[in-house]
Amino acid sequence: HALGHATPEAVMMALSQARAAPQPPAQAEDYAAYRASGGYWLLSEARTGRITPEAVMAQLEAAELRGLGGAGFPSVRKWRTVAQQAGPRLVVINVDEGEVGTCKDGHILRTEPHRALEGMLLAAWAVAAGRIWIYLRDEYAAEQALLHRELLALHEAGLIRYGGVDIGGAHDDEPGDDAQVRARLPRVALRRGAGAYICGEESALIESLEGKRGMPRLKPPIVAISGLFDRPTLEHNIETVWWVRDIVQRGGETWAAQGRRGRKGVRRFTVSGRVARPGVYLAPAGITARELIDEYAGGMAPGWQLYGVLPGGASGGILNAAQADLPLDFGTLDAQGCFIGSMAVIVLGRSAGHTDTAREAAANLMHFFAHESCGQCTPCREGTHHMLAAMSPQDWDAAHIHALSQLMRDASICGLGQAAPNPTDSVLRHFAQEIGLEG
Ligand code: SF4
Repeated sequence: HALGHATPEAVMMALSQARAAPQPPAQAEDYAAYRASGGYWLLSEARTGRITPEAVMAQLEAAELRGLGGAGFPSVRKWRTVAQQAGPRLVVINVDEGEVGTCKDGHILRTEPHRALEGMLLAAWAVAAGRIWIYLRDEYAAEQALLHRELLALHEAGLIRYGGVDIGGAHDDEPGDDAQVRARLPRVALRRGAGAYICGEESALIESLEGKRGMPRLKPPIVAISGLFDRPTLEHNIETVWWVRDIVQRGGETWAAQGRRGRKGVRRFTVSGRVARPGVYLAPAGITARELIDEYAGGMAPGWQLYGVLPGGASGGILNAAQADLPLDFGTLDAQGCFIGSMAVIVLGRSAGHTDTAREAAANLMHFFAHESCGQCTPCREGTHHMLAAMSPQDWDAAHIHALSQLMRDASICGLGQAAPNPTDSVLRHFAQEIGLEG
C-alpha cells in the first residue's frame, strides 16, 4: 500500500530488501535482563558520587588492564592523560574489528553488549567526556541493529541521550566544567565504517569519523591529547571497556591474579585453523598456544598435528611448533619477532596429505597488506608490492626481503606498514627450511 503506484519490479525489490533487513542476534542479553542482574548499578554509584573517578582508575591500575584492540597500551595512562587535558573531551569506542582471525568484539556484542556499554559510560564519566562515538565494522549489520535497539533502550531509561541520529562535531560542544559535564547525560552516536582494515588504526578511525578518507595521522600529537575534532579523545577497543565493571567490582588485584606465569588478567582469544573447536575463548593472559589449543579448543582437529601458530592475526608473525609453549601476552614474543595483538590465534597443521606452509601464509598475508595499505606512505604502499615480487612461489629473495623489511619497519607511518613484514620475517627466522635456506 505504501508503495502506491510502484511497478511490480519495485515491489519485488522492496520485499527482498525487507527480508534482508538485519535482525539483532537473539542470544544477546538485552537492557532489562542486564539491569535485572545488577547491571548499571556501578554506573549509578559513579553518577551519584558514591565512587570517584580516581577510585575507578586506581582499580584499572591495579589490574594492569591493557588495551585489547592490539596495541596493549596501559589503559589507565590513556584515561589519566585525557582527564588532564582541558575539555571538551570525547570518547571513541573501536569496534572496527578488521584484524585477520579476530571475532571477539562481535562476540561481545552478540552476547553481552551492555557490560561493554556500561564500561563505556563509566569511562566517559571518569574522564568527564560529554560525547561518545561507537565505530562499528561495516560487516556487523545485525550487531548494528542490536546496538541501535539497546542504545534506544538506554535513552528511554534515562542513562544516555541517543536518538539514532549522528551528533555534531567541533561546532556542537556543550559548555561546562567537569562537574557540569558529568551531571549531564552523555550523547552517543553509532557509526558504521566502510570495510577498510586501516580504519581500525585509532587515528585513521578518527579521520573516518570526521568524514575524511581513513588514513593514519602522524604522531605526535597522540589522540589522547588531540583526537576527534582536535579534542582530547579516549579511544578504546570495546573489549577493553567490557572489563571495567568486572575489575572495579571484584578489585583490580583479584582480576590481575587470574593470569598465568605472572601475566595479568584474562581476555578473549579467537582460535581458528586446524583445531577441533574453533571459537572465542576467555582464557588467562600468559597461557601458551599449546595450552589454548588443548584446554580450550578441543585439541588439534582429527588427523592434524601442530605445525605453526600465528599468535596475533595478520600482523603478529608466525611461531613454529617448538615455540608453541611460549606464554601469549603483550611483550612475551618480542625475541621471536612476533606479538599477540588482538589475540587472534590461527593454527597451522600438518596431516598425512598436506602441510599448511608458513611461506604460503606469509605470501597470502602480504597480498592482504598490499590491498589494505592506505597508500599514504611509500615504504608501505610500494614496499608491500616489492615484497610480493621477492616472494615468488619458486624462489624467495631472502636478502632483498630482509632489506625491504627493515625499510618498511623504519620508515612506514603506522603499524600496518611497520608490522606487514612480520609473517615474512618469521619464515626467514623460524621456517627457513621452507625456502631452502636450511633444514
Ligand atoms: Fe598507510 Fe601503510 Fe603508511 Fe600506514 S604504513 S599510513 S597503512 S601507507
